[in-house]
Amino acid sequence: MLLRRLDDLVGQPNAKAFLKNVVAGGRYANAYLFHGPAGVGKGTAALALARALLCERAGGRRPPEPGLADAAPGLFAALEAPPPPPPSGPALDDACGECAACLKTADLQHPDLKFLFPVSGEEKELDTTIADTLTALREDPYFVFGYEKFASIRLSLTRELLRELAYAPFEAARRVVVVRDADRMREDQYSALLKALEEPGAATVWILTSSRPARLPATIISRCQQVRFAPLAEPELAAYLEEKVGVSSRESRLLAALAAGSLGRALTLRDADPLRLRDEALALLEPALRGDGPGLWRAAQSFMNYGRTGRETLRRMIEFHELWLRDLLRAGVGAPRESLVNRDRETEIRRQAEHVDPGEVRRRLMVLEEARDAIEGNVTADLTVFSAMARVAGARLGEGEWPPHLAERWKY
Ligand SMILES: [Zn+2]
Repeated sequence: MLLRRLDDLVGQPNAKAFLKNVVAGGRYANAYLFHGPAGVGKGTAALALARALLCERAGGRRPPEPGLADAAPGLFAALEAPPPPPPSGPALDDACGECAACLKTADLQHPDLKFLFPVSGEEKELDTTIADTLTALREDPYFVFGYEKFASIRLSLTRELLRELAYAPFEAARRVVVVRDADRMREDQYSALLKALEEPGAATVWILTSSRPARLPATIISRCQQVRFAPLAEPELAAYLEEKVGVSSRESRLLAALAAGSLGRALTLRDADPLRLRDEALALLEPALRGDGPGLWRAAQSFMNYGRTGRETLRRMIEFHELWLRDLLRAGVGAPRESLVNRDRETEIRRQAEHVDPGEVRRRLMVLEEARDAIEGNVTADLTVFSAMARVAGARLGEGEWPPHLAERWKY
């Protein structure tokens, strides 16, 4: 099933409680902006809220209209089927998952649910690109939206949508428009969108999501009720990965730690064999410990072969070392196995922890943190990793054979 319920969201107790309250209360803002880090469930929550707003037993329940039944029958009254009686009991605070509307929203087939998201590629292939994305989304319950740098919400699609808004909703009392990563639009799209958001009495609820809300025009933000999504806690992520996704307990903790609160990131990393990557990253330190400068340089550069993702890979190399050192600190104070991120290499961690001074571990962590910041900035990533490993190993640069043309850039 493609669309979930608000109840099925991972973590996010505050956002979840707020949204369920909105659904139960039956009074909606014209527009919501779900903001927070990437991969924490904003898009899933947006679709789940849309589903609840259209559900016949929750937000989509038509209120009984008093007096209507007593009114004199109109000329065409006999031709119209009587409206179904409203379901009894209080409105639900989440989609029921069973009514006709819920069955349609489950597969994104409800005519009053519009879903826009950024795509890349050529305009003439737009229909195929969108259809392929939706198929992937339907077939893989752990599908993660990933964009190229210039992916955008296409102008042709927002135009088409805005034209449609002129008409009444097809089946439900209102229309719900979900705009994923709404910060990927052009300036003229925002002006058109703003007009639609300001439309008084419009039968449309907008749900925008963004992990980069600073890129949205302030005029848009001020029209939206904001809902904040937080990074997910590591144990929460690890438990979800093990119980729902079927990740082994050896990997789940490492993935959760690397994911930095983002389920999307954990799911993407899951396919990259994180234990192997971790072992490769840790092996980087070996030439540094041997004092083999050129060997270290070659090793650091070999990770640049990943092309455009080279910088990302190198940043991850640093992260693996940080996680290892944190495990050393934990082991040093006798922390149990469950609290170790690299628990599959527990014996090694415990052995190292006996021989290393916590002050020294902290020094190394500072070196690595600095290196990670430098990689985020514009510093040559491979050189940064090289320097960091050398400093972690305590090697003094400038000794032995170093690639001479870069020597003056090593400040350590
Ligand atoms: Zn329902």
